[in-house]
Amino acid sequence: MLPGKVGTDAYLSPVLDIDGVSVDRLMRDFGSPLFVFSEQKIHSNIQSAKRAFSTRYPKVQFAWSYKTNYLDGVCKIFHEEGSWAEVVSGFELEKALQNGVDGSHILFNGPSKTKEDLQKAVRLGVYIHIDNLDELYLLSEVADEESERPKVAVRVNLDAGLSQQWDRFGFNYENGQAWDTLSKIVEMGKLDLKGIHCHIGTFILSTKAYAVAAEKMARLALEVFQKLRVRLEYIDLGGGFASHNTLKASYLGGPDVAPSFDDYAEAVASAIYKVPFKTSELPMLILETGRALIDDAGYLLSTVLSNKRSATGRRYTVIDAGVNLLFTSFWYDHKISPAQPYSKYFEDVTLFGPLCMNIDMIREFVCLPLLNRGDHLVIHNVGAYNVTQWMQFITLRPNVIMVKRDGDCSILHEAETLSDIKRKECL
Ligand SMILES: *Cc1c(COP(=O)(O)O)cnc(C)c1O
Repeated sequence: MLPGKVGTDAYLSPVLDIDGVSVDRLMRDFGSPLFVFSEQKIHSNIQSAKRAFSTRYPKVQFAWSYKTNYLDGVCKIFHEEGSWAEVVSGFELEKALQNGVDGSHILFNGPSKTKEDLQKAVRLGVYIHIDNLDELYLLSEVADEESERPKVAVRVNLDAGLSQQWDRFGFNYENGQAWDTLSKIVEMGKLDLKGIHCHIGTFILSTKAYAVAAEKMARLALEVFQKLRVRLEYIDLGGGFASHNTLKASYLGGPDVAPSFDDYAEAVASAIYKVPFKTSELPMLILETGRALIDDAGYLLSTVLSNKRSATGRRYTVIDAGVNLLFTSFWYDHKISPAQPYSKYFEDVTLFGPLCMNIDMIREFVCLPLLNRGDHLVIHNVGAYNVTQWMQFITLRPNVIMVKRDGDCSILHEAETLSDIKRKECL
C-alpha cells in the first residue's frame, strides 16, 4: 500500500492488544502509564540475531548489555538464550552474578572500575576489558595481591569511517596505542591476555563501518599471534546495531533504514574472512548488541489527560507519560498508535507529558486522530535504555510488566510509592 499524507493505514491501525492481551485490560490491571515487554519478541530477536551470525561464522557468543535494560526478568531471558553478561560497573557486575551468571561468562567494560571491582572480578574469573593505562597499573597491583591470574582484553577504539569517531574509551588503533598496550601486557607477564574489544558507537546504520572495524580487529588479533605469540580467544565487536526507531531529523522511518541482523552479520563475517587465519584458529566472535535486541519488545502505554490549543492554534495533547520515563524521546521520533478505534479526522499535534516542565515533550509533530481525555496511546520501541535511564521526578515511576509467551502477565518492576521515596530520606 502506498503511504498517504499520514503514512500507510497499517502504520496507523489502532493497537488494541499486545501479543493478544488487550491494552485496555493491561491498563485496568496494572495502571497508567505502563511499560510492557513482550517475552515472545525478546526470544525471537535474540534467536534471529544468533542465527544470522552463527550461520556465517563458526564461533559466536552474544553478551547481554546490562545498561540497555537490567531488569532481572529481561536479563534472564537473554541468559536462557545463552547470552553472557556485559557489564560496565560494580553494581551491574553484582546484578549479573545474582542472576546466576558465572564469572567466566561476564565481560567487564567501562572506564570506572574501582580496585574492589577489579579484585572481585579477578577472583571470579571475569573478563576485564582494560580501558586506560591507570586501570592497567591498578590491575597489575591487584594481580600481585591475588592468587588468580587476571583474564583481560584490551579495549580498542578505531576509525571505522564514521563521521563521529568514538575515542573516549580504550586505546587507539591507528596511532599505535592499542598495540603498545597489548605488548606491554604480554611483557608484564602477570595478566592472561584473552581478547580485544571495540564498540564503535551506537545506532550505527552503516554495515560498512562494522566491516572496517571487524577487519582491523581481526588483523590486530593475527598480529598479536604472529609478533607476541599469544593466541587470542576472542574478538569482541561490542554493540551499536540500530533498532527500528526513527532518529529525529531522519527523512525515512527507522524500519526502512535499519540494516537487518543478516546484513550486519554478512558484513562482519566477510571482513574477518579477509584476514588469513587458519579455520581452526579463528577467534571467537563476541557481540554485545543491546538496543537492537530489546527496543521493539518494549511498549509504553499512556492515557490522554487533556487537549488544548497553542497560542497559534496548534492542537496540544497532554498524556500521563513524560520524558522522565522516556529519555529516548530526546533523540527518537517514537512511533505512536492510538489504542482504540478512531475517527477519520486527523490533525498534527504536539504531544506533551505530564511534568510541569517546558521540555516535557514526547513528540513535537505527530499526525494523530483526535483523541479525548481518557483515550489510550501505545508508544513503540521503548525497550532499550528507558527503564534504566528513567528518573523519579515529579511523578512516581509506573509498573513494568511482561506479557509472557503463555499469555500470562507478570510484574517485572513494581510501581513506586511515596514510601519508597521517603524510605531513603533522613531528617
Ligand atoms: C552500551 C554498550 C553496548 C550496547 O550498545 P547498543 O548500542 O545498545 O547495542 C555494548 N557494549 C558496550 C561496551 C557498551 O558500552
